[in-house]
Amino acid sequence: MSVANATGSFVETTAPTQSLFERVQAQIARAARAIELAPDVHAILDKPMSRIAVNFPVRMDDGRVRTFTGYRVQHNNALGPFKGGIRYHPAVSMDEVSALAAWMTLKCALVDIPFGGGKGGVQVDPSTLSQSELQRMTRRFVYALGPNLGPTYDVPAPDVNTDARTMAWIADTYAATLPPHERHRAMSVVTGKPVSAGGSPSRAKATGQGVVELIALWARDKACPMEDMTYTVQGFGKVGSWAARILKDKGARLVAVQDHTGSIRDPRGIDADALGEHVQRHGGVAGFPAADAIDRDAFFETPADVFIPAALEDQITERVAARLNVRLVAEGANGPTTPQGDAALQHRGIDVLPDILCNAGGVVVSYFEWRQNTTNDVPDPKRDDAQLREILARAYERVAAASHGFGLDWRSAAYAAALQRLETVYLDRGIFP
Ligand code: GLU
Repeated sequence: MSVANATGSFVETTAPTQSLFERVQAQIARAARAIELAPDVHAILDKPMSRIAVNFPVRMDDGRVRTFTGYRVQHNNALGPFKGGIRYHPAVSMDEVSALAAWMTLKCALVDIPFGGGKGGVQVDPSTLSQSELQRMTRRFVYALGPNLGPTYDVPAPDVNTDARTMAWIADTYAATLPPHERHRAMSVVTGKPVSAGGSPSRAKATGQGVVELIALWARDKACPMEDMTYTVQGFGKVGSWAARILKDKGARLVAVQDHTGSIRDPRGIDADALGEHVQRHGGVAGFPAADAIDRDAFFETPADVFIPAALEDQITERVAARLNVRLVAEGANGPTTPQGDAALQHRGIDVLPDILCNAGGVVVSYFEWRQNTTNDVPDPKRDDAQLREILARAYERVAAASHGFGLDWRSAAYAAALQRLETVYLDRGIFP
């Protein structure tokens, strides 16, 4: 809800009335109605299969013990092992992780890979920990989760503030809990590992690469040549920076970037590689010498063809949606748009490539990595690129067909296509007993 303040401009007044997980439930319900989803299947998908919360002690560098709270939510495994990232952030909660886990179920179903949905996290600001504290915290979290993880049961991956190194610690800790003759299977308990530790060379760039593949399909349908395209990015971490670097190779022009440190703009173009180096060195986009510092609103008002939110949830509110000056929102982040923001985007005729479609490249290449590990195969980046493109193009067509067939916006259409896939497996298999 928005109300006019004393100066007549609109300010957001409400904390969202729905929790994040309730929002996902409402989105599922909307799509379920449209496709007349079997009520039994809807009842199963309405709730996660299990929610695990652990409090675990970690010895800090000063010798004292600090207790951390971590979560793993396993939403659904009808299509395969629970799959989804682990994030480290102060705002991590059971509710947030539940929503993210449900999105993983829908994402994997939509792109039709043999995984279910899960998500985990620890409530912590990792920038306040030393490297060795972070390592001990990660290892102790994995130990606390115990048999809840496993290569054919629940397979984590990187997410906000976790990376290949975090995944290597997870695999190594999990291996240590197995008898020696079983340790060879520990590698596939996690994806997004360093290449040296069984990772896929295709994984680090995969989410950003997928975002670009989807934008290219949209651009083809809208006759918007990539080399004439302008775009803005929110968040210059793993997803945003890779998307920007790949778009640069295609000739598109990055005109504004925002992250937690500030916003910058240069209508003549910002060099994504130079900005990536700056962010590595200084921890954010603020102070990048080859662009102007601008304020938050000016960032959102920057004219461009495409806006890529690649940070956290709830960024595109009604107020932000009213300011955007773009043709397409390509959701690199999970859940970046509030329901009110969504309604405003629709009202303004701005296209949306919804998160469960747009950022699915990451988990698709996680599947390639897991398959490589479980079959003792060697990495094949060329094959990965071709298969990723094919899988995402098929998912894009599925969403386009559902949008057309059911008269749905693209977010609801993506949910509808994912739910139909899940419905098929339940109807074919039946429900025990
Ligand atoms: N965290 C990523 C996502 O939200 C990747 C998950 C994975 O690869 O398992 O899709």
